[in-house]
Amino acid sequence: MTAAPVLDEDRDLHQIAKIQFDRAAPYTEVVDGWRGMAQWLFQPERIVEVVLPVRADDGYVHIYRGYRVLHSSVRGPGKGGIRFHPDAGPAEVKALATWMTWKCALLDVPFGGAKGGVACNPQLLSKGEKERLTRRFTAALGEAIGPHTDIPAPDLYTDSQTMAWMYDTYSMMHPGEANLPIVTGKPVSLGGVTGRASATAQGGFYVTEHYLEMGGLPGISSLEGARVAIQGFGNAGRYAANLFHEAGALIVGLSDSQGGIYHETGLDPGLVGRHKDLTGSVIGIEDTVALPPMGVLEVDCDILIPAAIETQLTAENAPRVQAALVVELANGPTTPEADDILTSRSIRVLPDILANAGGVVVSYFEWAQNIENQQWDDAKVASELRRRMRRATERVVARRAALIDGIEMYRSRWHEMRPNYPELPLPNLRTAATAVAVQTCREAAAQRGVWP
Ligand code: GLU
Repeated sequence: MTAAPVLDEDRDLHQIAKIQFDRAAPYTEVVDGWRGMAQWLFQPERIVEVVLPVRADDGYVHIYRGYRVLHSSVRGPGKGGIRFHPDAGPAEVKALATWMTWKCALLDVPFGGAKGGVACNPQLLSKGEKERLTRRFTAALGEAIGPHTDIPAPDLYTDSQTMAWMYDTYSMMHPGEANLPIVTGKPVSLGGVTGRASATAQGGFYVTEHYLEMGGLPGISSLEGARVAIQGFGNAGRYAANLFHEAGALIVGLSDSQGGIYHETGLDPGLVGRHKDLTGSVIGIEDTVALPPMGVLEVDCDILIPAAIETQLTAENAPRVQAALVVELANGPTTPEADDILTSRSIRVLPDILANAGGVVVSYFEWAQNIENQQWDDAKVASELRRRMRRATERVVARRAALIDGIEMYRSRWHEMRPNYPELPLPNLRTAATAVAVQTCREAAAQRGVWP
C-alpha cells in the first residue's frame, strides 16, 4: 500500500483502460469478417453491486458497498481478485476486470477477466469485522460467483485467510458439492498452492530476467549489480525485493504508504522486512536516506518497480523518472500521459498485464489441481510459471517488432478508416501486449460466433 493516487490527468481508471485499448485495437485484425467485435469485447458483460450490512465489534451496523464485474467470459470463466480498499468502486473494478481479461489471454490461461472490491478501510477493521464483511459479501454475490463461472482470488488487503472464509461461506451455501475451485489463493492446508503468495513477484522477476537476457535493455544483460527501486512493500513489493536481491540486484530504494528509504549501495530486504514487522513501516532504518512517499519513483536506479496501487506515474513525475526500465507489478500504475512521456524518453515499460500476471497463472494451476484433486510439487509450479512468463515475454517483444515493421500499413489503414483522427501512436510494449491479448479474444469470439 502506498500514498493516495495522484490522478492529475482528470479521468477514472476505466477511461484509462479504454485509452490503452483504443491504442491497441488498430493493431489487431478482423477475424472471419466479424467487424465491431473488438469494441464489443471492451464492454463488461456483467456488473453486480451489493449493499453489505456488517456488525462492528461495538455492535454498530455499518453499511458497505461491494462490486463484482465479469468483464469477459469469451475465453472461459471470469477470474480475478477481490480488493478491500477505500477507492474500490465501479470504474476501478471495471478497469481491473478488463486488465484481467487481457492478462489471461496473453498468458494463455483459459479464463476470462473479472474483479471485485468492497469500498472500506481495511486498516480500521478488526479480524472479526473483516471476516463478517467477507462472508456477507460472498453470500450477497450468490450465483454471480462459481467454480465454473467466476472465480475470485486475493488482491489489495485480502489474502489466503480471506479466501478461506469465502470458500467456507460458499461451501455452506452449496453443501455436498466439490467447492474447492470457487476461489484461488487459499491456504495450502485448504487446497492452496505453495508459491501462490509470491507468484506475482516471481512472475515479474521471470519476465524482467528474460527481457534483459533478450537484450531489451542495452548495457544491462542480467540482474547482477542492477540498481532496483520498488514502490510498495505489500505482498508483491516485499517478495520482489527479496527475489531481485537474491539474484544479485542492489535494492537501492523501497517505500510504503508512510514514506520511502534509499541507500546508494543497496538495502537488505530481510532487515527491512523485520523492521516493517516490528514498527509497521519501512521508514526509520539507520543509515538510510528518508524519502517522501512518492520519492522512490524518482531515485537514481536502472529498474523501477511500481508494486503498490494505480496511477502513481503521471505527467507530473514521469519526466523525473531516472530508471531505464519500469516493471509494473501493480495494476495500472502508469497513466497514458506518463506512458507517452516514458516512451518518448526511451524508458521501457514491461506492462502490468504481462509483468504481474504470475499471480493469475499460479491461480490457474491451483484451480486445475483442485478440479483434478492433484497436488503439484513446488518445483513443478515454479518451472511451469517460468515457462509461461518467458513465452509471454517473447510474444510481446516479437509482436512489438512486427508492429513496428508493419507501421506504414497500419498507419494507412488507420487513416482510411478514421481520416479525422489524430496520428496512430507508435506501439510500445503495452500496446503490443494489449494487441496480442485483444487479438486472442477476437479470434475466440469469432470462432464461437455471436449467439443467436
Ligand atoms: N489479483 C491478482 C491480479 O490482479 C490475481 C488474480 C487471480 O489470481 O485471479 O492479477
